[in-house]
Amino acid sequence: MKKNGIAVLGAGESGVGAAILAKTRGIPVFVSDKGLIKTEYRNVLLHYEIDFEEGWHTADKLLNAEVVVKSPGIPDNIPIIEAFRKKGTPVISEIEFAGSFTGSYKICITGSNGKTTTSSLLWHILKGGGLNAGLAGNIGKSFALQVALEKHDYYVLEISSFQLDGMFSFKADIAILLNITPDHLDRYNNDFNQYAGSKFRILQNQTNADAFVYCADDPAIISELAKRQVLAKRYPFTISDRLQQDGAYLDNNELVIQTNENQIRMTIEQLALQGRHNIYNSMAASISAKLIGLRKETIKRCLEDFENVEHRLEFVANVHGIEFINDSKATNINSTWWALESANKPVIWIAGGIDKGNDYSLLGDLVKKKVKAIVCLGLDNSRIFEAFSDAVETIIETHSAGDAVKVAYSLGEPGDLVLLSPACASFDLFENYEDRGKQFKQHVKQL
Ligand code: ADP
Repeated sequence: MKKNGIAVLGAGESGVGAAILAKTRGIPVFVSDKGLIKTEYRNVLLHYEIDFEEGWHTADKLLNAEVVVKSPGIPDNIPIIEAFRKKGTPVISEIEFAGSFTGSYKICITGSNGKTTTSSLLWHILKGGGLNAGLAGNIGKSFALQVALEKHDYYVLEISSFQLDGMFSFKADIAILLNITPDHLDRYNNDFNQYAGSKFRILQNQTNADAFVYCADDPAIISELAKRQVLAKRYPFTISDRLQQDGAYLDNNELVIQTNENQIRMTIEQLALQGRHNIYNSMAASISAKLIGLRKETIKRCLEDFENVEHRLEFVANVHGIEFINDSKATNINSTWWALESANKPVIWIAGGIDKGNDYSLLGDLVKKKVKAIVCLGLDNSRIFEAFSDAVETIIETHSAGDAVKVAYSLGEPGDLVLLSPACASFDLFENYEDRGKQFKQHVKQL
């Protein structure tokens, strides 16, 4: 490729978006994907007359690039990335790249869990207030594509730690940090501090004109904060204390959002998103909406009429008094912890899949208290048996969504809750967590 151009590694949503943005700005671009490119993306590249290769990375074609945009799914330690590093070529993420082409207002959301829910809720509020807002990041159409073609005034960006690792000069106007609990440690040398450091990059380059919205009940966030200097104005949210400063807290069953001596109050029963973890998500979204200047009435209405995103504690059906909930997106221990915590009926828990080094003991007390039976849905369920055979009398193995639903239903009685909240990734038996959730729902509907 020509000098002064960019190389894009990975031709998925973010890579193809970055390539289109480069092309529309007249920057030479070459896309390289080691695997096969999906037909829809290949067609887009052809349409925009963007050069690409698939099946391998040709070093000669790539190493001339001035900048490399790397998809978040590609690990840092592959040979072509090492070669770029040796040459001193910057390797950045799509969010960093796209950020340099827009002066729009950016609200960036990260955390181990709750990113999609909170981003979607905040976007719903901004649109409800009539703003021209885009939702991007790990969700929907890429940020780069939207910067190239749609040009919103506001962007709500869901940002994973892998995206953050490739961000250097990007700045969030509002940074939201929901929580930090172990996840993806395989990509961080099994070092929780490294992972937490990556999440804190959400604050980089912020000044005292910017805002930092964070969960004050999260011990990992609080201990990291103690080590750092934060220039942005802080807006903590908590459900355990009454705040004496701007932020959000609970006053009995009332949610209080306080900014600039101005309060919004509403009862938690009015919130569309139920469950204690969702109180946090609602707090983070509404503090941000308030800082942007949306009206109280708009924020309240949107917190009430938001429809939850699929596969996150999603109500599926009530079959002869047995309730079925799809929480297929719960792919780590913490998200399942909150799902069990919010259950107020005896639970038949469908769990398992590929576990990313789960510490099941963290669920021990909740399982003892709330779970009457476990239905395993994974290829290898030995760690679940090991962890819970003393706590739960009935543990049954299944290897398909259909069998899991049938077994769970046969174990249930009116008043029970069948909860698919696997705490594991899905790739052993399913294409992805969406596929797992969809199959689950389909079989429930056939009961
Ligand atoms: P992410 O985009 O960060 O993966 P999602 O909004 O998709 O998060 O939710 C993932 C899982 O985590 C779901 O099972 C959901 O019910 C649960 N969850 C949502 N918000 C939170 C939160 N604030 N804390 C812990 N778990 C949460």
